[in-house]
Amino acid sequence: VQEWHLTARPVGRPTPDDFRLVERELPAPGPGEVAVRHTYLSVDPYMRSLMSPAQTGASAYRLDAPMTGGAVGEVVESRAAGLSPGDLVLSALGWRTGAVAPADRFTLLRRVEGVADSAFLGVLGMPGLSAYVGLTEIAGLRAGETVFVSGAAGAVGSLAGQIARLRGAKAVIGSAGSDAKVAYLTDELGFTDAFNYKTAPVRTQLAKAAPDGIDVYFDNVGGDHLEAAIDALNHYGRAALCGAISGYHATEPPPGPCNMVELVKKRITLRGFEVIDHTDLQPRFADEMGGWLANGQIRFRETVEDGIDRAVEAFLGLMDGRNSGKMVVRL
Ligand code: NDP
Repeated sequence: VQEWHLTARPVGRPTPDDFRLVERELPAPGPGEVAVRHTYLSVDPYMRSLMSPAQTGASAYRLDAPMTGGAVGEVVESRAAGLSPGDLVLSALGWRTGAVAPADRFTLLRRVEGVADSAFLGVLGMPGLSAYVGLTEIAGLRAGETVFVSGAAGAVGSLAGQIARLRGAKAVIGSAGSDAKVAYLTDELGFTDAFNYKTAPVRTQLAKAAPDGIDVYFDNVGGDHLEAAIDALNHYGRAALCGAISGYHATEPPPGPCNMVELVKKRITLRGFEVIDHTDLQPRFADEMGGWLANGQIRFRETVEDGIDRAVEAFLGLMDGRNSGKMVVRL
Protein backbone atom coordinates (compact mmCIF):
# COMPACT_ATOMS: atom_id res chain seq x y z
CA VAL A 1 0.00 0.00 0.00
CA GLN A 2 0.89 3.65 -0.18
CA GLU A 3 0.26 5.78 2.90
CA TRP A 4 0.79 9.42 3.87
CA HIS A 5 2.96 10.25 6.87
CA LEU A 6 3.26 13.60 8.61
CA THR A 7 6.99 14.40 8.71
CA ALA A 8 6.96 17.83 10.36
CA ARG A 9 4.45 19.72 12.51
CA PRO A 10 3.28 22.67 10.42
CA VAL A 11 3.42 26.16 11.88
CA GLY A 12 0.81 28.25 10.11
CA ARG A 13 -0.42 26.93 6.77
CA PRO A 14 0.99 23.42 6.09
CA THR A 15 3.06 22.87 2.95
CA PRO A 16 3.54 19.68 0.91
CA ASP A 17 7.01 19.37 2.54
CA ASP A 18 5.32 18.48 5.85
CA PHE A 19 4.11 15.17 4.37
CA ARG A 20 5.63 12.10 2.71
CA LEU A 21 4.05 9.30 0.67
CA VAL A 22 5.46 5.98 1.89
CA GLU A 23 5.20 2.54 0.33
CA ARG A 24 4.74 -0.47 2.60
CA GLU A 25 3.93 -4.19 2.27
CA LEU A 26 0.83 -5.23 4.18
CA PRO A 27 0.74 -8.59 5.97
CA ALA A 28 -1.97 -11.10 5.12
CA PRO A 29 -4.93 -10.78 7.50
CA GLY A 30 -4.67 -12.87 10.66
CA PRO A 31 -7.59 -14.50 12.48
CA GLY A 32 -10.34 -11.94 13.11
CA GLU A 33 -8.81 -9.49 10.62
CA VAL A 34 -9.79 -8.23 7.17
CA ALA A 35 -7.90 -6.70 4.26
CA VAL A 36 -9.57 -3.68 2.67
CA ARG A 37 -8.84 -1.80 -0.55
CA HIS A 38 -9.85 1.84 -0.20
CA THR A 39 -11.90 3.56 -2.89
CA TYR A 40 -12.41 7.00 -1.31
CA LEU A 41 -10.52 8.94 1.34
CA SER A 42 -11.83 11.90 3.27
CA VAL A 43 -9.93 15.11 3.94
CA ASP A 44 -11.47 17.28 6.66
CA PRO A 45 -10.65 20.55 8.43
CA TYR A 46 -10.28 18.83 11.85
CA MET A 47 -7.16 17.11 10.51
CA ARG A 48 -5.33 20.43 10.72
CA SER A 49 -5.54 20.37 14.51
CA LEU A 50 -4.26 16.78 14.67
CA MET A 51 -1.07 18.00 12.93
CA SER A 52 -0.45 20.77 15.41
CA PRO A 53 2.27 20.69 18.11
CA ALA A 54 -0.36 21.74 20.64
CA GLN A 55 -2.39 18.59 19.99
CA THR A 56 -1.86 15.79 22.47
CA GLY A 57 -3.79 12.64 23.14
CA ALA A 58 -4.47 9.45 21.24
CA SER A 59 -5.95 11.02 18.13
CA ALA A 60 -3.02 13.40 17.42
CA TYR A 61 -0.97 12.47 14.35
CA ARG A 62 2.41 10.99 15.21
CA LEU A 63 5.39 12.00 13.09
CA ASP A 64 6.55 9.43 10.52
CA ALA A 65 3.50 7.23 11.03
CA PRO A 66 0.41 6.84 8.84
CA MET A 67 -2.19 9.55 9.35
CA THR A 68 -5.79 8.63 10.07
CA GLY A 69 -9.08 9.83 8.62
CA GLY A 70 -12.32 8.65 7.11
CA ALA A 71 -12.03 6.01 4.38
CA VAL A 72 -14.49 3.94 2.38
CA GLY A 73 -13.34 0.69 0.83
CA GLU A 74 -14.10 -2.81 -0.22
CA VAL A 75 -13.16 -5.94 1.69
CA VAL A 76 -10.76 -8.02 -0.44
CA GLU A 77 -9.96 -10.77 2.05
CA SER A 78 -11.60 -11.70 5.34
CA ARG A 79 -10.75 -13.94 8.24
CA ALA A 80 -13.53 -12.49 10.36
CA ALA A 81 -17.14 -13.49 10.80
CA GLY A 82 -19.58 -10.90 9.50
CA LEU A 83 -17.41 -9.40 6.76
CA SER A 84 -16.93 -10.93 3.30
CA PRO A 85 -15.04 -9.97 0.17
CA GLY A 86 -16.97 -7.33 -1.75
CA ASP A 87 -18.50 -5.76 1.37
CA LEU A 88 -18.42 -1.97 1.51
CA VAL A 89 -16.92 -0.65 4.74
CA LEU A 90 -16.11 2.62 6.49
CA SER A 91 -13.13 3.13 8.79
CA ALA A 92 -10.87 5.76 10.30
CA LEU A 93 -7.85 4.19 8.54
CA GLY A 94 -7.66 6.85 5.84
CA TRP A 95 -4.71 8.54 4.10
CA ARG A 96 -3.67 5.14 2.66
CA THR A 97 -4.67 2.96 -0.27
CA GLY A 98 -5.67 0.01 1.90
CA ALA A 99 -5.42 -1.55 5.32
CA VAL A 100 -5.31 -4.83 7.21
CA ALA A 101 -6.90 -4.57 10.66
CA PRO A 102 -9.25 -6.30 13.12
CA ALA A 103 -12.81 -6.42 11.82
CA ASP A 104 -14.11 -4.17 14.61
CA ARG A 105 -12.21 -1.24 13.10
CA PHE A 106 -14.64 -1.32 10.14
CA THR A 107 -18.33 -0.47 9.87
CA LEU A 108 -20.31 -2.40 7.28
CA LEU A 109 -22.20 -0.04 4.92
CA ARG A 110 -25.31 -0.68 2.89
CA ARG A 111 -24.90 0.72 -0.64
CA VAL A 112 -27.58 3.28 -1.56
CA GLU A 113 -28.90 3.08 -5.09
CA GLY A 114 -27.97 6.05 -7.24
CA VAL A 115 -25.57 7.43 -4.64
CA ALA A 116 -21.77 7.07 -5.01
CA ASP A 117 -19.94 5.34 -2.17
CA SER A 118 -18.15 8.62 -1.41
CA ALA A 119 -21.45 9.90 0.05
CA PHE A 120 -20.64 7.95 3.23
CA LEU A 121 -17.84 10.47 3.80
CA GLY A 122 -20.14 13.43 3.15
CA VAL A 123 -23.87 13.79 2.85
CA LEU A 124 -24.63 10.42 4.48
CA GLY A 125 -21.64 10.51 6.82
CA MET A 126 -19.98 12.61 9.50
CA PRO A 127 -20.47 16.03 7.84
CA GLY A 128 -24.16 15.31 7.21
CA LEU A 129 -24.71 14.22 10.79
CA SER A 130 -22.87 17.35 12.01
CA ALA A 131 -25.21 19.61 10.05
CA TYR A 132 -28.27 17.71 11.29
CA VAL A 133 -27.22 17.60 14.95
CA GLY A 134 -26.02 21.21 15.00
CA LEU A 135 -29.25 22.60 13.67
CA THR A 136 -31.78 20.39 15.36
CA GLU A 137 -30.23 19.37 18.70
CA ILE A 138 -27.74 22.13 19.43
CA ALA A 139 -29.43 25.23 18.00
CA GLY A 140 -32.96 23.84 18.44
CA LEU A 141 -34.19 25.35 15.17
CA ARG A 142 -37.94 26.01 15.09
CA ALA A 143 -40.14 26.57 12.04
CA GLY A 144 -40.48 30.22 11.07
CA GLU A 145 -37.00 31.24 12.27
CA THR A 146 -34.30 33.00 10.28
CA VAL A 147 -31.01 31.10 9.99
CA PHE A 148 -27.50 32.20 9.02
CA VAL A 149 -24.92 29.57 7.96
CA SER A 150 -21.23 30.39 7.39
CA GLY A 151 -18.99 28.18 5.28
CA ALA A 152 -22.27 27.57 3.50
CA ALA A 153 -20.94 26.04 0.27
CA GLY A 154 -18.88 23.41 2.08
CA ALA A 155 -19.77 19.87 3.12
CA VAL A 156 -21.43 20.71 6.45
CA GLY A 157 -22.70 24.20 5.60
CA SER A 158 -24.44 23.26 2.35
CA LEU A 159 -26.41 20.60 4.21
CA ALA A 160 -27.11 22.75 7.28
CA GLY A 161 -28.73 25.37 5.04
CA GLN A 162 -30.87 22.86 3.20
CA ILE A 163 -31.96 21.07 6.38
CA ALA A 164 -32.96 24.45 7.81
CA ARG A 165 -35.16 25.08 4.77
CA LEU A 166 -36.73 21.60 5.06
CA ARG A 167 -37.36 22.16 8.76
CA GLY A 168 -39.44 25.23 7.97
CA ALA A 169 -37.01 28.12 8.42
CA LYS A 170 -38.50 31.40 7.24
CA ALA A 171 -35.24 32.46 5.62
CA VAL A 172 -31.79 30.87 5.22
CA ILE A 173 -28.80 33.12 4.58
CA GLY A 174 -25.37 31.77 3.67
CA SER A 175 -21.86 33.15 3.35
CA ALA A 176 -19.09 31.74 1.17
CA GLY A 177 -15.78 32.78 -0.33
CA SER A 178 -16.57 33.28 -4.03
CA ASP A 179 -19.32 34.64 -6.26
CA ALA A 180 -19.70 31.23 -7.93
CA LYS A 181 -20.35 29.62 -4.53
CA VAL A 182 -22.84 32.36 -3.65
CA ALA A 183 -24.73 31.69 -6.89
CA TYR A 184 -24.70 27.95 -6.11
CA LEU A 185 -26.34 28.62 -2.73
CA THR A 186 -29.18 30.75 -4.04
CA ASP A 187 -29.70 29.18 -7.47
CA GLU A 188 -29.29 25.49 -6.69
CA LEU A 189 -29.57 24.90 -2.95
CA GLY A 190 -32.55 27.14 -2.21
CA PHE A 191 -30.87 29.59 0.19
CA THR A 192 -32.99 32.73 0.49
CA ASP A 193 -29.93 34.98 0.23
CA ALA A 194 -26.16 34.64 0.26
CA PHE A 195 -23.05 36.83 0.14
CA ASN A 196 -19.32 36.64 -0.59
CA TYR A 197 -17.54 37.40 2.70
CA LYS A 198 -14.39 38.42 0.84
CA THR A 199 -15.92 41.42 -0.92
CA ALA A 200 -17.25 43.46 2.06
CA PRO A 201 -17.40 43.16 5.86
CA VAL A 202 -19.60 40.28 7.10
CA ARG A 203 -21.39 42.62 9.51
CA THR A 204 -22.71 44.94 6.77
CA GLN A 205 -23.59 42.15 4.37
CA LEU A 206 -25.42 40.17 7.05
CA ALA A 207 -27.36 43.23 8.23
CA LYS A 208 -28.47 43.82 4.65
CA ALA A 209 -29.50 40.19 4.07
CA ALA A 210 -31.31 39.90 7.42
CA PRO A 211 -32.77 43.33 8.24
CA ASP A 212 -34.94 41.79 11.00
CA GLY A 213 -32.03 39.88 12.52
CA ILE A 214 -31.37 36.15 12.77
CA ASP A 215 -32.61 33.57 15.27
CA VAL A 216 -30.08 30.80 14.65
CA TYR A 217 -26.45 30.93 13.57
CA PHE A 218 -24.65 27.79 12.36
CA ASP A 219 -20.96 28.68 12.76
CA ASN A 220 -18.30 26.94 10.68
CA VAL A 221 -15.91 29.89 10.57
CA GLY A 222 -15.60 31.82 13.87
CA GLY A 223 -13.77 35.18 13.93
CA ASP A 224 -15.53 38.10 12.31
CA HIS A 225 -18.37 35.83 11.17
CA LEU A 226 -19.19 34.98 14.78
CA GLU A 227 -18.87 38.59 15.83
CA ALA A 228 -21.25 39.71 13.08
CA ALA A 229 -23.69 36.94 13.98
CA ILE A 230 -23.76 38.02 17.63
CA ASP A 231 -24.74 41.51 16.48
CA ALA A 232 -27.46 40.12 14.21
CA LEU A 233 -28.89 37.54 16.62
CA ASN A 234 -32.32 38.37 18.01
CA HIS A 235 -33.41 37.97 21.64
CA TYR A 236 -33.09 34.33 22.72
CA GLY A 237 -31.07 33.59 19.59
CA ARG A 238 -28.90 30.47 19.49
CA ALA A 239 -25.61 29.71 17.78
CA ALA A 240 -24.37 26.18 17.15
CA LEU A 241 -20.57 26.41 17.16
CA CYS A 242 -19.48 23.68 14.76
CA GLY A 243 -16.07 24.97 13.71
CA ALA A 244 -13.87 28.05 13.49
CA ILE A 245 -11.86 27.45 10.32
CA SER A 246 -10.79 31.09 9.98
CA GLY A 247 -8.35 30.43 12.84
CA TYR A 248 -7.10 26.91 12.14
CA HIS A 249 -3.69 28.01 10.83
CA ALA A 250 -3.29 30.72 13.47
CA THR A 251 -0.05 30.66 15.46
CA GLU A 252 -1.50 32.84 18.26
CA PRO A 253 -4.95 32.30 19.82
CA PRO A 254 -7.32 34.28 17.54
CA PRO A 255 -9.07 37.20 19.28
CA GLY A 256 -12.56 36.40 20.53
CA PRO A 257 -15.61 38.48 19.65
CA CYS A 258 -15.45 41.86 21.42
CA ASN A 259 -19.24 42.31 21.64
CA MET A 260 -19.86 39.70 24.32
CA VAL A 261 -22.13 41.94 26.41
CA GLU A 262 -24.67 41.50 23.61
CA LEU A 263 -25.00 37.88 24.77
CA VAL A 264 -26.26 39.10 28.11
CA LYS A 265 -28.56 41.78 26.81
CA LYS A 266 -30.13 39.53 24.22
CA ARG A 267 -30.09 36.28 26.29
CA ILE A 268 -28.13 34.54 23.55
CA THR A 269 -26.85 30.96 23.74
CA LEU A 270 -23.55 30.00 22.09
CA ARG A 271 -23.12 26.24 22.22
CA GLY A 272 -20.21 24.22 20.88
CA PHE A 273 -20.56 20.57 19.94
CA GLU A 274 -18.60 17.59 18.63
CA VAL A 275 -20.48 15.25 16.33
CA ILE A 276 -18.72 12.28 17.91
CA ASP A 277 -20.93 12.76 21.02
CA HIS A 278 -24.10 12.35 18.94
CA THR A 279 -23.58 9.11 17.02
CA ASP A 280 -26.75 7.74 18.68
CA LEU A 281 -28.63 10.00 16.25
CA GLN A 282 -27.00 8.35 13.21
CA PRO A 283 -29.90 5.94 12.47
CA ARG A 284 -32.54 8.69 12.68
CA PHE A 285 -30.34 10.97 10.58
CA ALA A 286 -29.67 8.26 7.95
CA ASP A 287 -33.40 7.60 7.62
CA GLU A 288 -34.32 11.23 7.25
CA MET A 289 -31.43 12.13 4.95
CA GLY A 290 -32.03 9.00 2.85
CA GLY A 291 -35.62 10.16 2.32
CA TRP A 292 -34.61 13.72 1.41
CA LEU A 293 -32.07 12.42 -1.12
CA ALA A 294 -34.51 9.96 -2.65
CA ASN A 295 -37.11 12.74 -3.05
CA GLY A 296 -34.58 15.17 -4.50
CA GLN A 297 -35.15 17.56 -1.58
CA ILE A 298 -31.47 17.76 -0.76
CA ARG A 299 -28.77 18.32 -3.34
CA PHE A 300 -25.07 17.96 -2.80
CA ARG A 301 -21.78 18.34 -4.58
CA GLU A 302 -18.43 16.72 -4.17
CA THR A 303 -15.04 17.97 -5.25
CA VAL A 304 -12.98 14.95 -6.24
CA GLU A 305 -9.18 14.67 -6.45
CA ASP A 306 -7.92 11.54 -8.15
CA GLY A 307 -5.14 9.38 -6.77
CA ILE A 308 -3.41 8.88 -3.44
CA ASP A 309 -0.62 11.23 -4.57
CA ARG A 310 -3.20 14.09 -4.68
CA ALA A 311 -4.37 13.65 -1.07
CA VAL A 312 -2.21 16.39 0.43
CA GLU A 313 -3.22 18.78 -2.36
CA ALA A 314 -6.84 17.87 -1.65
CA PHE A 315 -6.41 18.69 2.03
CA LEU A 316 -4.63 22.00 1.35
CA GLY A 317 -7.22 22.85 -1.30
CA LEU A 318 -10.00 22.23 1.20
CA MET A 319 -8.42 24.60 3.69
CA ASP A 320 -8.06 27.23 0.92
CA GLY A 321 -11.68 26.91 -0.23
CA ARG A 322 -11.02 25.17 -3.54
CA ASN A 323 -13.87 22.73 -2.78
CA SER A 324 -17.57 23.09 -3.34
CA GLY A 325 -19.38 20.57 -1.14
CA LYS A 326 -17.41 17.65 0.27
CA MET A 327 -13.76 17.25 -0.73
CA VAL A 328 -12.80 13.59 -1.30
CA VAL A 329 -9.91 11.66 -2.81
CA ARG A 330 -10.85 8.88 -5.23
CA LEU A 331 -8.44 5.97 -5.52
P1 NDP B 1 -15.85 22.52 4.12
O1 NDP B 1 -16.30 21.60 3.06
O2 NDP B 1 -16.75 23.63 4.54
O3 NDP B 1 -14.44 23.11 3.66
C1 NDP B 1 -13.81 24.12 4.35
C2 NDP B 1 -14.26 25.50 3.81
O4 NDP B 1 -13.90 26.50 4.73
C3 NDP B 1 -13.57 25.91 2.53
O5 NDP B 1 -14.22 25.38 1.40
C4 NDP B 1 -13.62 27.44 2.59
O6 NDP B 1 -14.75 27.89 1.84
C5 NDP B 1 -13.88 27.74 4.07
N1 NDP B 1 -12.83 28.58 4.63
C6 NDP B 1 -11.50 28.36 4.65
N2 NDP B 1 -10.86 29.39 5.25
C7 NDP B 1 -11.83 30.28 5.61
C8 NDP B 1 -11.82 31.55 6.25
N3 NDP B 1 -10.67 32.14 6.67
N4 NDP B 1 -12.99 32.18 6.45
C9 NDP B 1 -14.16 31.63 6.04
N5 NDP B 1 -14.23 30.43 5.40
C10 NDP B 1 -13.08 29.78 5.21
O7 NDP B 1 -15.44 21.70 5.41
P2 NDP B 1 -16.43 20.87 6.34
O8 NDP B 1 -17.81 21.08 5.88
O9 NDP B 1 -15.90 19.51 6.47
O10 NDP B 1 -16.24 21.59 7.75
C11 NDP B 1 -16.83 22.87 7.99
C12 NDP B 1 -16.57 23.28 9.44
O11 NDP B 1 -17.20 22.37 10.32
C13 NDP B 1 -15.11 23.30 9.83
O12 NDP B 1 -14.90 24.38 10.70
C14 NDP B 1 -14.93 21.99 10.57
O13 NDP B 1 -13.86 22.03 11.47
C15 NDP B 1 -16.27 21.87 11.26
N6 NDP B 1 -16.69 20.52 11.62
C16 NDP B 1 -17.01 20.30 12.93
C17 NDP B 1 -17.52 19.11 13.35
C18 NDP B 1 -17.92 18.94 14.77
O14 NDP B 1 -18.18 17.83 15.21
N7 NDP B 1 -17.98 20.02 15.54
C19 NDP B 1 -17.67 17.99 12.40
C20 NDP B 1 -17.35 18.32 11.02
C21 NDP B 1 -16.87 19.55 10.66
P3 NDP B 1 -14.88 29.41 1.28
O15 NDP B 1 -14.50 29.34 -0.17
O16 NDP B 1 -16.30 29.73 1.49
O17 NDP B 1 -13.93 30.25 2.06
